[in-house]
Amino acid sequence: MKIFDAHCDVLSKLLENPELDFVHERHRLDVTLDRMVEANIGVQNFAIYLSERMSRQFQFVLDSIDLFCQRILSNPQMRFVRSKNDLRRVAAEGSIGAMLSLEGVDALQENLANVRILFYLGVRSVGITWNYANWAADGVLEPRRGGLTELGRNLVKECNRIGMILDVSHLSERGFWELAELSNKPFIASHSNVYAVRQHPRNLNDEQIKSIISSEGVMGITFVSPFVDAVQPVAIDKLLPHIDRVCSLGGSRHLGLGSDFDGIKEWMIGLEHAGKYGQLVELLQKHYSESDVKRFVYGNWYDFYSKHLPDGQAN
Ligand SMILES: [Zn+2]
Repeated sequence: MKIFDAHCDVLSKLLENPELDFVHERHRLDVTLDRMVEANIGVQNFAIYLSERMSRQFQFVLDSIDLFCQRILSNPQMRFVRSKNDLRRVAAEGSIGAMLSLEGVDALQENLANVRILFYLGVRSVGITWNYANWAADGVLEPRRGGLTELGRNLVKECNRIGMILDVSHLSERGFWELAELSNKPFIASHSNVYAVRQHPRNLNDEQIKSIISSEGVMGITFVSPFVDAVQPVAIDKLLPHIDRVCSLGGSRHLGLGSDFDGIKEWMIGLEHAGKYGQLVELLQKHYSESDVKRFVYGNWYDFYSKHLPDGQAN
């Protein structure tokens, strides 16, 4: 079964460690080309993320895009997905689609031209924060629990205007509600789980999940083991209560996967890397109809991006 994964951090690892081999590496990368082929990944979203160890320079964001081109898109199986047409083509020819997103706007340096430049370069979604505060908003672990700044509000409006999709994973709850109020487009949570199942600050409460659903957005269930269950290690069947809860809130068409592979330090048992999706699919098939499973692992994200990517080649 084809997989659509809305979040991985391979680019961040490549940026810090350029000698890593995206095709064959088996120990230091979770997502490799070999594993994507093995797991039948149809579309993989690659996040641009500058780790806390790096300075917030826009050049590093551009360097990440260069790595994406040189190390990922350069493989003949891969296709850059920037438009509805790209997505259709990838599905039709069975190649692997690669999308770009930005996780945290810190390095955009308060300059909205930089978000437009990223859009020209093919970045299609933006998470406003990582866990802490930046010029646009507070993240979920920022103690003062603030929302959007004035510049952050302008960023939301500019993203709406140019068609950059907004991602609320990592954003503070207050920021979430301000964004939900301000945004006139559907928004997503690329990699977040359900707070009612696991009380973790990175997870979304029921009202937040209902708000994503009513915006016509999608949330990606994530495999970061502490976001799944309090008791470690965590087996893959612990993902089921998260999926059930989103469905019970009316979200069976608004639920996908957002693995966070290569951003994970504590892996789930049975989901240690991107070659292991088969076990998750088998588990889901025991609990949900075939058409639901297809939607959860691929179809819901596919439908979302089919609607919200630009029509042609963006420029
Ligand atoms: Zn993240």
